[in-house]
Amino acid sequence: MSETVSEEAFRAEALEFLQANVKPKVEETTNWGEGSDRVSLLSEKTKEEEQAELEAAKEWRQKLFDAGFAWITGPTAYGGRGLTPAHERLFASIEAEFDTPSQGPFGIGLGMVAPTILAHATDEVKQAYLRRLWRGEIVACQLFSEPVAGSDLAGLQTRALRDGDEWVLNGQKVWTSGAQYSDIGEIICRTDPDAPKHKGLTGFVVNMHAPGVEVRPLRQMTGGASFNEVFFTDVRVPDDHRLGDVNQGWTVALTTLMNERASIGGGGGGGSGVGASRLIELMRHLGRDSDPIARQRLAEIFINSRVSSYTSMRAMAKIKAGQLPGPEMSIAKLSLTNNLQRISGLLSLVLGPKLVADSGEWGTYAWSELVLGIPGMRVAGGTDEIMRNIVGERVLGLPKEPGLSK
Ligand SMILES: Cc1cc2nc3c(=O)[nH]c(=O)nc-3n(C[C@H](O)[C@H](O)[C@H](O)COP(=O)(O)OP(=O)(O)OC[C@H]3O[C@@H](n4cnc5c(N)ncnc54)[C@H](O)[C@@H]3O)c2cc1C
Repeated sequence: MSETVSEEAFRAEALEFLQANVKPKVEETTNWGEGSDRVSLLSEKTKEEEQAELEAAKEWRQKLFDAGFAWITGPTAYGGRGLTPAHERLFASIEAEFDTPSQGPFGIGLGMVAPTILAHATDEVKQAYLRRLWRGEIVACQLFSEPVAGSDLAGLQTRALRDGDEWVLNGQKVWTSGAQYSDIGEIICRTDPDAPKHKGLTGFVVNMHAPGVEVRPLRQMTGGASFNEVFFTDVRVPDDHRLGDVNQGWTVALTTLMNERASIGGGGGGGSGVGASRLIELMRHLGRDSDPIARQRLAEIFINSRVSSYTSMRAMAKIKAGQLPGPEMSIAKLSLTNNLQRISGLLSLVLGPKLVADSGEWGTYAWSELVLGIPGMRVAGGTDEIMRNIVGERVLGLPKEPGLSK
C-alpha cells in the first residue's frame, strides 16, 4: 500500500539518510595543474576501473533502495515507494548537494529498460526484475541496433521463432553499451518477416547469461571499450518474457526510445558537464582570454548551454506532468550536440597542435579524449540528421522524407 509522507517529513528523512551515508559536495574549482586533467564523454575505463565503479554503484543503489530513495515514484507492488514526482524531484535536489557514487552503469537499465518493462511486461517479469533492477542487484542493456539497422531501426533482422512456450533467437546486435556487465537485455526481434517492417517485430527480456549469448567488446577511438557486439545463437526465451503482444514490438521500442532521448537530451544540459570555468581557465593559461574571437566563441557556448538546459527542462517538465514529450526531446538532444561541436571548435582554436600531440603539459592534450567522444554523442540515441528530420517534419511542418521509415 502507498504511504503518505509530507514533503517536509520526506526532506528531513532524506537529509538524515544522506548526512549519515555520504559527504556534502564541495564545489569544484579548477586550479591549473592540480588533480586529474581527464575530460571525457564516453566511458574510458580499464577493466579494473570499470569493475570498481560497478561495485560502488551497486553498493550505493542498495543503500538507497533499502532506505526508500531508489524508486520513489515506483508502484509499491513492484518495490517502489509509491510517492509523487514532487517527492522524487525533492530528493534529487537534496541529493545533488552530496557527493554520491556514480550511477553510470545503471543509466540504460533504469532510464530506458525498466520503464519499458513496467509499461509492457507480464506481471511475472515485472515481479522478477523491477525490484532487482532498482536495487542495483542486476544491470540491463538495450539490444536494438544491428549492423544494418540503426537509424532505420525497423529494418532489424535478428529473428525470434516460436517453439511451444519458448522463442528461439538468432542474430547479431551491435553498439550495445554495457553488455559486458549486464544480466538482462531488452531485445527487439523480427517475428514476422512477411509483415511490413514495423509490424513484424516483437520485444523480449533476454537473460544475458543464457547459453548462446556471446558478448564481444568493441574498442573506441578514445581507448575504452564500453560497447559490444552481441551474438545470439539459438538462445531460448520463455514466452512470458515477451514485452507486449506478438508483432507489436515497434510500440515497445518507441517507449524505450522516448525514454532514451529524455535521458540523453534531458540529463546533460547544453555543455554536458564541461563547465565554463574549466574552459576559461584553459584560455587564461594559454594566454587566449583576451582574444576577441575565442572570447566570443566561449560566450556562445555559455549562452547556448543555458538555452539548451532550459529546453531540456521544458521537455522534462512535460514528462513529469505525465504528458508525452513531443519534438522537444529531439530539439534538446540536437542543442546538446550542437554545443558540444562548439566546444570542440573552441578547443581546436585555442589548443591548436597541443590537442593532437601529447607534450606532457597538464590540461592540454587531455581534451582530445572529450573531442574524440563528441561524434559518438552525435550518433547515440538518434543521429543529428534524424533529429533534424523530426524537427523539420513535426515542428516546421515540412513534408515527410520520401520512402523513409522514421
Ligand atoms: C555512444 C553510443 C552508444 C550506443 N549505445 C547503444 C545501445 O546501448 N544499444 C543499441 O541498440 N544501440 C546503441 N548505439 C547505436 C545507435 O543507436 C546507432 O548508432 C544510431 O541509431 C545510428 O545508427 P547507425 O550507427 O547504424 O548509423 P546509420 O543509421 O547507418 O547512419 C549513418 C549516417 O547516415 C545518416 N542517416 C541515416 N538515415 C538518415 C535519414 N533518413 N536522413 C538523413 N540522414 C540519415 C545518419 O545520420 C548517419 O550520419 C549507440 C551508439 C553510440 C554512438
